[in-house]
Amino acid sequence: MIRSWRIGFVALILVALSGCQALQKVDQGLYQVAESVSERDRITGRRSLSMANRSAQIEQGNAYVEKIIAQEQKNKRPINAAISRTQYQRLVRVFDRIHQVSHLKQERWQPLLIKRNSFNAFTTGGTYIVVHSQLMTDLKDDAELAAVLGHEIAHTVANHVYERQTHAQVSALVGSNSAGRSGYQAAFTHESEREADRIGILYTALAGYDPLAASRIWQRKYTQEGNARALFHHDHPVNAERYQEAKAVGTKVLPYYKKNQINPRAAALLDNNVLWQKNNNEVAAGEGGGVTALLSTALGAYVQHQQAKGEELRQLQQANFVKSVESVLKVESTRKAGSHLLDTRWRYAANGPTLTNVVMGLYLKRNGKIERYVSHVNGYIKPGQVFTAKFSLPNSLNVDDLKKYSAKLYLDDVQAAR
Ligand SMILES: [Zn+2]
Repeated sequence: MIRSWRIGFVALILVALSGCQALQKVDQGLYQVAESVSERDRITGRRSLSMANRSAQIEQGNAYVEKIIAQEQKNKRPINAAISRTQYQRLVRVFDRIHQVSHLKQERWQPLLIKRNSFNAFTTGGTYIVVHSQLMTDLKDDAELAAVLGHEIAHTVANHVYERQTHAQVSALVGSNSAGRSGYQAAFTHESEREADRIGILYTALAGYDPLAASRIWQRKYTQEGNARALFHHDHPVNAERYQEAKAVGTKVLPYYKKNQINPRAAALLDNNVLWQKNNNEVAAGEGGGVTALLSTALGAYVQHQQAKGEELRQLQQANFVKSVESVLKVESTRKAGSHLLDTRWRYAANGPTLTNVVMGLYLKRNGKIERYVSHVNGYIKPGQVFTAKFSLPNSLNVDDLKKYSAKLYLDDVQAAR
C-alpha cells in the first residue's frame, strides 16, 4: 500500500518539474543532499538513511576488529588455526561459499575465530566476520554454520550497523523521544534481525546449504531456553518467533537449493527472488531524481520508525499478557522426582482465556552466572485446571542445591488459545 502511494506522489512531482530550468538546478542540489545522507539499499534498491560511506565504514569496522586481534595477542590467547586447525578450515570453507553468493562478493572478506565460551558471531560493518569458538562446536553441521555466517554478513549488506548509528543521530536531531526508550530500540533491532535472517537464509540456499538449517537452530534454542518473554528486554526476536519465521522463509527459498552446489543463477536471484524484487528505476538527478531520492529516504526512515513503534507495542502487550497470567498461576506443590529432576504442580486460578504454548521456567544464579531451565507444557490449559511442569537439570546441579542458589520459578511464555 505504501509503495503505490509513493509512486503516485513521485509521478506528480515529476510532472511539475519537467521543463523548468531553475527547478532542475534545485533538484540537482537535492540529489546531492540525498546522496550524502542515504545510500541505496543493496537488496531492494530503495534508499535507506546513512551518513557514512562504504570505505569509511570498512575503515571504522576493521579498526575495531584489529583492536580485538591485538588484544588476543597481548593476552596470549590463540586465534584462527591456532585454536583448532580443522575448525578454522571448516569456517573458512563454509564462509567462502556464503560470501561468493552474497551482495558483497566483490569485497575481500575474512573470518576471524576467537576463543570464547559463548554462542556468538558478529560483524562490525567492515570486512571481517568474528566467530566465537563455542559456536563452532554447538552448531550441528555446515548448513547451520552457513546460516549463522549468512545472517552476519547480511547485517553489513543491509547496512544495519550504520543505519542504527544514523537513526540515533537523526532522532536526536529532531528530538524524537521514542528513540530514547529501550523498548523502542529493542524493537528497531528486531526488524534488523528479521531482515538479516531472511537475507542469510537466501544465501544458504544459493550456496548449496539446506535453507531450513536456520529454523533448526531456533527450534533447538526454543526447546532448551524457551522465550523468556517477560523476563527482560529482548534485542532479538524471541526464539519461537525466529523459528517460525525462519521455517517459512526457508520453505520459500527451498527451490533455489541444490545440495553442495552454488546455484548457477545465484547472481540474478540476488536481485529478483521470492522474497524481494530490486527496483533499479531511480530517476536521474535533474529530472526529479533529487526530490525522489530525498522523499524515499525520508519515507524509508519514517516507515522504519513506524514499524519499530508497532513492534514495540506488540512486544509490550505480549509481555504484559505473560505477567498477568503469571500473577494467577499458583504453585500447588514442588517435589523432588530424582537427584536432577524437579516436578512442579500448578493451578491456573482465574477466569481468563484458555492457555496454550505454556513454558514454565526456573532461574538461578550459580558462580555469578544466571542459569535458566524450561519445561514445555503440552496442550491446552483451561481456567481452574491443574497442570504439571517437570524440570530436568544438568548432572552438575542437584535438586537439593536449588535453595542454595535462590532458584525461582517463573512463567517463561504463554499464549491465549484462539
Ligand atoms: Zn543479528
